[in-house]
Amino acid sequence: MKIAIAGSGAMGSRFGYMLHQAGNQVTLIDLWSEHIATINTKGLSIETAGKQQFVKIPAAFPEDVNDDFDLVLLFTKATQLNDMLNKISHLLTDNTAVLCLSNGIGNLETIKKFNPHLDLLVGTTLWTSELIGPGTVVLNGSGYIEFQAVGNVSHETVIKVNDVLNKADLDARPSNNVLLSIWKKACLNSVLNTFCTILDCKIMDLRKSQYTPVLAKRVVDEFEAVAQAKGIPLTAELALKTINSSLAPDQAGDHYPSMHQDIASGRHTEIDYLNGAIARMGKELNIPTPTNTLITELIHAREDVVIKN
Ligand code: NAD
Repeated sequence: MKIAIAGSGAMGSRFGYMLHQAGNQVTLIDLWSEHIATINTKGLSIETAGKQQFVKIPAAFPEDVNDDFDLVLLFTKATQLNDMLNKISHLLTDNTAVLCLSNGIGNLETIKKFNPHLDLLVGTTLWTSELIGPGTVVLNGSGYIEFQAVGNVSHETVIKVNDVLNKADLDARPSNNVLLSIWKKACLNSVLNTFCTILDCKIMDLRKSQYTPVLAKRVVDEFEAVAQAKGIPLTAELALKTINSSLAPDQAGDHYPSMHQDIASGRHTEIDYLNGAIARMGKELNIPTPTNTLITELIHAREDVVIKN
């Protein structure tokens, strides 16, 4: 299959690599010139279990790509999605399926607003990846994908996308309620990512504080209230179960979450698509969301301190 990865950072590179290894014709599309140049000169550097390999996969700016793709995989940060869609609009033909696995609440709306007629699939993934420098990703652990078609996507397209992901060992599972998965993941990120960023700690360090469960419950209760009003069957109990299992001693990572890494490298975070989305919707629905509002403001304040422009 001919596949373009639009947004080839940590996750886009990981998926691009795995799809390439499975025999697909992959093009990595990105906007970071140093990253593109490094991949094209040295190859994409993949580090797994301390071993490094260089893989030849073409990388390019959107405007330099002119091809018909069967699948475009959107893997930007939520903040970058609209800009990327505009830059790759020439690649989105009637024969192209589009799959978005980025984190956050609101990506579906962004894509539908951009073009309501796309063959669109959205989902979440528990795969992880780390971009440690231009052209270099570190792959750890395993994961899976849950995805669902939005609107009038043919059954054949869903099967084709499912097959191509599974042949690349990405463990794809079509879902009947992907919005619940997206909200559950956003709730998890709204606790772990923001707490680690505000407290400047790794995920495993959250276990040390007696305030973690207390604060997590406040975030999650507001998520439940807004979700229920929106018809999303997310409960506080379900969200807390997911959070608690991510904080279990054998799971809680010895690493900083991506929001912490964004701040460390002076970049904007996805806060407006996490706690910020709950604060915004709560306001519209007249549901109080003081905790998510405060966390959103704290992260934006942190961005103001570290981002130069
Ligand atoms: P990323 O920050 O690695 O990459 C996103 C974009 O930012 C890419 O276009 C990349 O080239 C660019 N970028 C990254 N560092 C840059 C730098 N220093 N200078 C200029 N440009 C830079 O993002 P990601 O981790 O691949 O995340 C993509 C989406 O997937 C997000 O919604 C994220 O929340 C989600 N996600 C990430 C992980 C993970 O483990 N990284 C896991 C699950 C979901």
